[in-house]
Amino acid sequence: MEKEITCIGCPMGCSITADIGKDGKINSLSGYSCGVGKKYAYGELTLPKRMVTSLVYVRGTNKPLPVKTSAPITKSKIPECLGAIRSVSVTAPVRVGDIIIKNVLGEDADIVATGEII
Ligand code: SF4
Repeated sequence: MEKEITCIGCPMGCSITADIGKDGKINSLSGYSCGVGKKYAYGELTLPKRMVTSLVYVRGTNKPLPVKTSAPITKSKIPECLGAIRSVSVTAPVRVGDIIIKNVLGEDADIVATGEII
């Protein structure tokens, strides 16, 4: 079975074709122009990951704190990650880069502040 995906590694948007065997294993990849695309395609076809952005409640104010994962996490864990983010609140001051949740869901990524609350 052939599967096509578009690399998002750069604006060239190479179309990558994967030949996937009946056992679900990737037999070959073609169409990528660099190693970034090869790695991206392999990851997308085996264990897709995504960055997550959201907002955290700040006690004592109606202004939420924007946050994001410090690295992509497993795509299927995004709802659980959003639940973990919803379950926390912070108190000012918070600086850009402050860790709000360490090692969220054991995904080797932290939830970090992308804004400031002073
Ligand atoms: S394969 Fe390389 S050149 Fe092509 S879109 Fe991906 S990163 Fe860009």
